[in-house]
Amino acid sequence: MNDYHIHLHDHGESGPYTQELVSSFVEMGTKHGVTELGFTEHIFRFREVNELLGEWWAEDPDPHMRSYCERYVAEHSTQSLEEYVEVLTAAKSREMPVKIGLEIDYYPRRMGEIDEFLSAYPLDFRLGSVHWIGAWGFDDPGVGDEWRNRDIESVWIGYFALLADLISSDSVDVLAHPDLVKKFGHRPAQEPVDLYRQIAEMAAERSIAFELSSAGLRKPVGEAYPSSLFLEAIRSAGASITTASDAHKPQDVGADFDRLSETAISAGFTEAVSFTMRNSHSVRL
Ligand SMILES: [Zn+2]
Ligand SMILES: [Zn+2]
Repeated sequence: MNDYHIHLHDHGESGPYTQELVSSFVEMGTKHGVTELGFTEHIFRFREVNELLGEWWAEDPDPHMRSYCERYVAEHSTQSLEEYVEVLTAAKSREMPVKIGLEIDYYPRRMGEIDEFLSAYPLDFRLGSVHWIGAWGFDDPGVGDEWRNRDIESVWIGYFALLADLISSDSVDVLAHPDLVKKFGHRPAQEPVDLYRQIAEMAAERSIAFELSSAGLRKPVGEAYPSSLFLEAIRSAGASITTASDAHKPQDVGADFDRLSETAISAGFTEAVSFTMRNSHSVRL
């Protein structure tokens, strides 16, 4: 199985991208039986991209959220996209089973510019995700208390509306952790199966795949992203899946992939997709 969601640095960590760093992930992945490693650094970590994004948090009415978000982005925006692409390109030329990807967090009204800017880079795939509702990073423990001030159902509806906007922006190939909003276990009384169906159909129409991620198993929610009902909707809509760990350190590459493959197979999937220069091909599970 491929692991199509890997970060070279942990949150809050920075540093140069080196061949040694890439090799440490590849070695561990190979040990865990992973076929291909797709690296997907967040675009907000790159200085070049951040200039383009501007102060996207500025419209949030909550001054605490705005300043938290501004500080978070400033602290994380330390890396060079040029260096990232160079190091991964070099790893590929040394026959390492590596794919060059990025995790493109959704930024309302900026996706056109992002799409154009990124088209200059030799990316194998683009992973899209939703991490912020306004300036609130709803999956960030640093602002986890905000869940107490919000209505859970409204947060979920807001999250899926942003996911739908991300799909419509036609700027990504795969949707990361599709129900990330459940990370801390805050769930509406009933799973929103109609929303799942709508999202799955929208993505299937545009040939956008969904990531099946083991990261949720390591989080308070304790289950894969997406949930089994969501995965069923994806299967019924005829959309494809990738497999992923969202590793931020080498030992997590391929984490819990035995459980992930059982989940995929019991939902009726026999194949996942891999990508080369944004063209997808099927791989057996
Ligand atoms: Zn993410
Ligand atoms: Zn990630």
